[in-house]
Order: sequence, then C-alpha cells, then structure tokens
Amino acid sequence: MSSRWNYSVPLFFCFTNATLIVGVIPTDDDRFLCRKCGKKYAGKQLVLSHILFECGVQPVIQCPLCPRKCKRNDVLQTHLKNIHGIH
Ligand SMILES: [Zn+2]
Ligand SMILES: [Zn+2]
Repeated sequence: MSSRWNYSVPLFFCFTNATLIVGVIPTDDDRFLCRKCGKKYAGKQLVLSHILFECGVQPVIQCPLCPRKCKRNDVLQTHLKNIHGIH
C-alpha cells in the first residue's frame, strides 16, 4: 500500500483505542455504553463515532485523517469508507 496507509491507519486506531479505554463501557448484552451520557450502541464503531464526533463535540466534524469536514457523523463514516478505506 502507499506510505499514507502506514502513517494514517495506526494513528487512527491509536486514537480510537485511547477513546475506547476512557469513554466506552462494554455491557453484558454485547453492546457498548458511552460513559459520558449513557447512550447505548449495538456496535463498537457506533459508540466510538458517537464519542468522537457527537457527544459534547462541536457541530462541524473534522475527519481525523484529512482536512475534510463533515456536518454529520454518518457522512463522515461514508467519507472514511470511500476515501480512506476504513470500515
Ligand atoms: Zn455520549
Ligand atoms: Zn478524510
């Protein structure tokens, strides 16, 4: 792959793992709880994006990998998928 991958992917996962440790509580029914507001999500990725981009965060969502800004989290998720290949 390109050198951009070597740089951006570990950075991204490092970022999300740190957030996971401080902000996410796994529940017994395989769901994930936001520690801040108590919202429950079915997927780890969902709660992570909630914590990173929704929970008490500014309305304009900055892509962690490029200068692109998105208005909504699902738009950013699509952007991450299509542009950066992150699922
Ligand atoms: Zn929250
Ligand atoms: Zn981007």
